[in-house]
Amino acid sequence: MGREIYAVANWKMYKTAREATDYVEKLSPKIQYCKTNVYLAVPFTSIFSVSAFAKETCLSVGAQNMSDAKEGAFTGEVASFMLKEAGASFVLLGHSERRVLFGETNECIHRKVLRALQDDIRPILCIGETKKERDESRTEEVIEEEIVVALSEIPKEDAARLILAYEPVWAIGTGAVPTSSMIEKAHAYCRTVLGKLFGQKTAEKIPILYGGSVKPSNVESIVSLKDVDGVLVGGASLDPEIFSQIVMECERIERK
Ligand code: PEP
Repeated sequence: MGREIYAVANWKMYKTAREATDYVEKLSPKIQYCKTNVYLAVPFTSIFSVSAFAKETCLSVGAQNMSDAKEGAFTGEVASFMLKEAGASFVLLGHSERRVLFGETNECIHRKVLRALQDDIRPILCIGETKKERDESRTEEVIEEEIVVALSEIPKEDAARLILAYEPVWAIGTGAVPTSSMIEKAHAYCRTVLGKLFGQKTAEKIPILYGGSVKPSNVESIVSLKDVDGVLVGGASLDPEIFSQIVMECERIERK
């Protein structure tokens, strides 16, 4: 039995709660009978309304970030158990925009992964190299460090709840997409690193998604690649019609 396929939307800081509900109203009839796991990572303010609405659908709703602390005097932060109560079932962690714009380190992302698992929120760990790191042939070194630090101390039994998203920083929002061979090599390497951490059998169960300038016209060729279990989509997920086309392309793929 092959791994399941995921289509994850990352709305970033777009859409009010009302716009979010309109989006789900448009998207849900189009994807009603899908076997693809359709995840929406929405702004905090939309989690509650979208999750209430999505209850009747195959959608899962999640957040794009969370605090590493349990709770306390951390003005402006949101704790994982609060996300859970609002209806989130997953959270994006370590997105490159969090790393670059908000200074998140691998250690901080590690604390967030542990916290999310404790509170039963499924972490989607985002990793990937910059253009400079690729040009210096450091892709494998960089992604290995990101994975190893973020996922250390995670019990094997929790590892199967993880999702990994390989997102080369230079492909995010740029229209530049790595070649198929670059994607396959990076995903195979991610799985090898997961195997070193958790054993091969567990590593085989962890979905590894690709993210970076995915659109309806390239998604099929990407998700058909070995070790690619779906996509994380930014810009092209903002329009429900376009995102539904991406989901439909995922539906056509036979799992190997
Ligand atoms: C992202 O933000 O995770 C992303 C992949 O963005 P885009 O699809 O716009 O490149």
